[in-house]
Amino acid sequence: MDGSSLRTLFSEEKIQKRIREMGTQIDADYPGGTLHLVCILKGACFFMADLARSIERDVVVDFMGISSYGRGKTTSGAVKLTKDLDTAIEGADVLLVEDIVDTGVTITYLVNVLEQRKPKSIRIATLLDKPSRRLRPVKVAYVGFEIPDEFVVGYGLDYAERYRNLRDVCVLQGPQVA
Ligand code: 5GP
Repeated sequence: MDGSSLRTLFSEEKIQKRIREMGTQIDADYPGGTLHLVCILKGACFFMADLARSIERDVVVDFMGISSYGRGKTTSGAVKLTKDLDTAIEGADVLLVEDIVDTGVTITYLVNVLEQRKPKSIRIATLLDKPSRRLRPVKVAYVGFEIPDEFVVGYGLDYAERYRNLRDVCVLQGPQVA
């Protein structure tokens, strides 16, 4: 209707299979104890829900809100905290759960904020990674899929708050995202 179209990049089955593998890897990598999952709202909440259930050890689940792209497709470069954690992370093994790492600006900012709270460790898990777009060097411990420089929606990812409930990850093409 608005001239946009969706092309499936990763099907629901492929996403779920990959998340199960990531959960197994995470369980194997941490020596023991509780893992503190920090979900970056809003896009990562679908991924977080499935990843948490793919991990067998005890997890704590918490959320951070940040200002994001708004209605457009390009980042402003500015990151603002809109919701802080409810729980303390001092001495905790923290796994930051992101939907997509693009320029790396957002995740770098969040890691800096959380490091000041003296966690035992901080690692990053992202469903999608666009390494070709990086402006900041970011060490991502767990990557679901690397993708090229295309704008994707679905499985939590939005365009102007739409498409989050798609079960697949799709490339959005059309006049409004050109
Ligand atoms: P970064 O700070 O790494 O440039 O951007 C990270 C954030 O940008 C993601 O959490 C996501 O909100 C948004 N973003 C980056 N690329 C895409 C994309 O292809 N699709 C959507 N929907 N959001 C994206």
